[in-house]
Amino acid sequence: MILRSSSNRSVVLKMKEKTIEKKDLSGFIDSLLEEYQVFAPTIAEGIPRFDRISSSTQVSLDSPKLERSPKEVFFPQCETLFTYQLIDGKMTMEEPPALESERVLLFVRPCDVKALTLMDSVFTSWEPKDTNYLDKREKTIIVGRACSRPWSTCFCTSLGVDPFGKEGMDLVFEDIGDKYVVEALTERGGKIIDGSSLFKDAEKKDLENLKEVSKKATEAIRSELDVKEIEKKLKAIYDDSFWGKVSEKCVGCGVCSYLCPVCHCFDVQDEGTELKGKRVRIWDACQYPIFTLHASGHNPRTSSRERIRQRMMHKFSYFIENFGELACVGCGRCIKGCPGNMDIREVLTGIMATEAD
Ligand code: SF4
Ligand code: SF4
Repeated sequence: MILRSSSNRSVVLKMKEKTIEKKDLSGFIDSLLEEYQVFAPTIAEGIPRFDRISSSTQVSLDSPKLERSPKEVFFPQCETLFTYQLIDGKMTMEEPPALESERVLLFVRPCDVKALTLMDSVFTSWEPKDTNYLDKREKTIIVGRACSRPWSTCFCTSLGVDPFGKEGMDLVFEDIGDKYVVEALTERGGKIIDGSSLFKDAEKKDLENLKEVSKKATEAIRSELDVKEIEKKLKAIYDDSFWGKVSEKCVGCGVCSYLCPVCHCFDVQDEGTELKGKRVRIWDACQYPIFTLHASGHNPRTSSRERIRQRMMHKFSYFIENFGELACVGCGRCIKGCPGNMDIREVLTGIMATEAD
């Protein structure tokens, strides 16, 4: 049976589960490298992040989750939109070429894959669609990895994300000890394991183990929040003194936005001269004082009170109005990364407990 998922991928229900021994994983990755550009969890410049690899030896699966999310594989921190040059009085412009072949992104956690489906809404819901993003997204096979070792800051289950969820994935690897249970969820996910002798049919015992591991992983997430009425509540406390108190911890560094797998604001700048240069887009963040500074000098968000409120309103109210979903997947990165110890779980709890002034 063929269904459509939210990211418009063709979903095959239901292929028989396979297994692969952990010792054979490097062989599988090296075989992928013969055919695809492969991105995987690795340590690049000392930072655990998703990056392009050229050998399976570069893959690092030690960190339960990566500090940097996979959004930069589709929406790079700095991206050239086009170059320009004045030649013989005529301006020529050239866009970067589209990707020539398919890519594989390996071992993405369910929260981060869910975040990609939310980014899809932003970049592809309106005309014109963002072709820079769309090209990368359409040509990338997503291989997920079930999350059996959550961080202490994870609260995905409170926001409807399942650590063993499969939404948006083409293929998923689920760790059951000395091997992985592997499930193909789309035709193109199936295609990358088809014909490989490294994968065997899963046995009953493997699937029983999987159930057990999945149950334990969900129980390991300790944070429980009730955000059912959050949208209504945010509207009711828009002008409340709550925002002044909560913003005292914020130093406006923007780390929360940069680490967030869902935050997608960017600036567009020209680099070069009137004769030659390029137009680039770079990540931006609503926590910066100049983010909303108008050319006239007027700034509608001059204080961190207004900027923190904007961050929460966007994630838990405006995004629902625009796309029917929350713009937070409970990955906990902003909590881990904030130098002011701002904890979005505490902010959410505070919002739910506040009665309007
Ligand atoms: S990471 Fe913390 S201090 Fe930095 S902008 Fe975000 S909330 Fe403010
Ligand atoms: S707001 Fe924080 S917890 Fe939510 S998705 Fe972004 S980084 Fe993760």
